[in-house]
Amino acid sequence: MNARNDVQVSVLGLGAMGSALAGALVRGGCATTVWNRSPGKADELVAQSARVVADAGDAVRAGEVVIVCLLDHASVREVLDPLAGELAGRSVVNVTTTSPEQSRELAAGAGIAYLDGGIMAVPHMIGEPGASILYSGSGDVFDQYKPLLDLFGDSAYFGTDAGLASLYDLALLAGMYVMFAGFLHGVAMVAPAGVKAGDFAARAAPWLSAMTGALEGFAKVIDGGDYTVAGQQSLHFSDLGDLLAATSEQGISTEVVDMVQRLIRRQIDAGHGEEGFARIIESIRQQPD
Ligand code: NDP
Repeated sequence: MNARNDVQVSVLGLGAMGSALAGALVRGGCATTVWNRSPGKADELVAQSARVVADAGDAVRAGEVVIVCLLDHASVREVLDPLAGELAGRSVVNVTTTSPEQSRELAAGAGIAYLDGGIMAVPHMIGEPGASILYSGSGDVFDQYKPLLDLFGDSAYFGTDAGLASLYDLALLAGMYVMFAGFLHGVAMVAPAGVKAGDFAARAAPWLSAMTGALEGFAKVIDGGDYTVAGQQSLHFSDLGDLLAATSEQGISTEVVDMVQRLIRRQIDAGHGEEGFARIIESIRQQPD
């Protein structure tokens, strides 16, 4: 397929992200129809050759592939449910953030070729290096429209389970949010010593980037199923007692570090203190009593 102009594509939703996606399509030469619940959000896109319609049904009828970028699952259902008949036989690419189960529910919609997407980017990154979108669901839709999807960023396909892209997306966000919380804990720790957040950030960014080099090693140990492999930092060595004491001395909350310490302690208390740090995944895998 040529991504330029032999495909009629429609975009439902012109919030910050939907507008960025529609902009990438228009700049990529796609014949693009756009719709948004509230009027007045399409002016820039129309100036770049997009066609705007006032009715979601008109947008669906205009597109052989319909990109959906609304607020959440409820808004997707609200817009798509009344259009089930119109959608039959068309391809839907839903990049709205939904839970894995919600994605699977949408994929089960009668007669729709459904591809679910998780956007690993913010709007200004769309169409730029560094943006990636994770997809799962219909392999036919992914293969057929990949040149068009590549206009948004790197397109990765995870198989026919429509919930897997969302699961991956949310799992990656888990890593991001906990890292951000750790960084902010560090900012709060040094602040009473008069260190500006900006100065701390300048140190933290290269440090945290360098530490991502450890992820592959953890993964190897976990996939190998042996936490005793030589060369790992032991759980005893990882005990965060000093870090917690320093945190308290600074008069700030210990919550962020407490969480990690609890995961470590559960494994040490179960007799695994000499094993590697990756073993705390066993604390995470089980709900605490
Ligand atoms: P915005 O809040 O900017 O836009 C929300 C869009 O949803 C608007 O077009 C809004 O229409 C529409 N909408 C909300 N409720 C309804 C409804 N009941 N019926 C019809 N339309 C509705 O959000 P974003 O564009 O930033 O995000 C869109 C999706 O992309 C979200 O699921 C988000 O999680 C995901 N995403 C966003 C990222 C970001 O950085 N922005 C990053 C990764 C994913 P109206 O203009 O009428 O209010």
